Amino acid sequence: MDEVRVRIAPSPSGNLHIGTARTALFNYLFAKKNNGKYILRIEDTDAERTSQAYIDNIFDSLKALGLKWDEGPDVGGDFGPYTQSERFDIYPKYAQILLDKGFAYECFCTPEELEAEKEEASKNKQAYVYSKKCENLTESQKAQLRAEGRKPAVRFSVSKAQQAFHNSSILHFDDLVKGDLHQDTSLIGDFVIMKSNGTPTYNFAVVIDDMLMKISHIIRGEDHISNTFKQILIYEALGADIPKFGHLGMILAPDRSKLSKRHGATAVSEFVEKGYLTEALLNFVALLGWSPSDGAEIKTLDEIAQDFRIGEVSSSNSIFEYDKLNWMNGQYIKKMDIKELTKLAIPFIKKHNLAELTEEQLEKVIAATREPITVLSELEHDTSYFFGKDIEYDEGVKEENIDTEQAQNILKYFASQLETYDFDVPEKLHQQMADFRTYFKENYGIKPKVTMWTIRAALTGRTRGADMGVILEVLGKDKVKYRIEKAIA
Ligand code: GLU
Repeated sequence: MDEVRVRIAPSPSGNLHIGTARTALFNYLFAKKNNGKYILRIEDTDAERTSQAYIDNIFDSLKALGLKWDEGPDVGGDFGPYTQSERFDIYPKYAQILLDKGFAYECFCTPEELEAEKEEASKNKQAYVYSKKCENLTESQKAQLRAEGRKPAVRFSVSKAQQAFHNSSILHFDDLVKGDLHQDTSLIGDFVIMKSNGTPTYNFAVVIDDMLMKISHIIRGEDHISNTFKQILIYEALGADIPKFGHLGMILAPDRSKLSKRHGATAVSEFVEKGYLTEALLNFVALLGWSPSDGAEIKTLDEIAQDFRIGEVSSSNSIFEYDKLNWMNGQYIKKMDIKELTKLAIPFIKKHNLAELTEEQLEKVIAATREPITVLSELEHDTSYFFGKDIEYDEGVKEENIDTEQAQNILKYFASQLETYDFDVPEKLHQQMADFRTYFKENYGIKPKVTMWTIRAALTGRTRGADMGVILEVLGKDKVKYRIEKAIA
């Protein structure tokens, strides 16, 4: 087989969608598996919907996911430029080839004329296809229209291409994911390939670029299947090799509707802002339509690349289970290198006065609070008692864990012993706390964990949280004293 070359071709009309991230991942995996090249192309022909901020977001998100491209706008390559708006001089040449071969024609219809055709079709309850009114204009008719100031678009003649290369009007192709797919091309209608303003339409630009960039396999969402039939006809009309196509099922929300903002985050950057790790996101989207051979779901990108086969990708839609993503993110948070995790956590806890802690202390705090969380944004609340002098009590904690006679006795005894506690030597402090618990067990029959609940409540305002050793160590004697005394008062 010739070199495998695949591409991801996002249109910068929004931030990088999680569905595009999956398409990018599957292309990346396919390239890795086949020692091929994975290419990034920016499809920005629609100037009105394009913005630099979206382009930046696409770059940043793909990079953050670790899906490094071999060729692209920033890294270059032999087939650039890789941004469509920088290729505008290329497309008219190929449109001219199609005009010369008779597979395309100039269309002078105005938007109003086209609208009228569409209305007529809808009145007759017919699917709209262009009337081909302009296909057989004579040179003098065209000159006349030009003289009126009309600028032509270029339309592709579906019927001419179909008749030239196929015996029937049914066009087939063998999809890598979905198997045989076909369409009656008489329903397609002659479509515009170059607009009257001289810019290409998506279906045309994509074929020219995929052809010139020698793309061998096109893996993308199934919402493009209807485009694929048009694109195959263009390849044939140009006499070009047709790449292989693989169409992925859609990603649906848990209610089986299209995944949209009302279900939660949809862009990779939004997920990151909410505290999802890119490793977890990538692992999660890999499982939307693909399953590892050993059934184990937590996989690194390298492990997935080893195991991935495009033919095993499910042809049906996948459901985006936010609960599962949360679980998976929690797994990644638990096992991530603590230095790295702390760095990622900082933006989520910057409401606190981070300068109060050393780097080492902050790492201890994150290590001690990461266990139960599923997204990093939970850390703001879960680490709050490590900062500042005063704390807020959770509901009922004061009444149940501080204000009772037993609790007050525990706190007062703790306060009386505090001066003797060695906060600088953790092992020693650990032993002193054990002795403290034993004292209440032996003298008053109070369970050690009840004794510690009281201390925890006084120091954190909560009945659950980080390991007590870490709390004492990080707060230090002065803050501990202040909070215990406050709880007694
Ligand atoms: N620019 C197209 C999109 O974002 C790419 C489609 C394709 O992969 O051909 O949907």
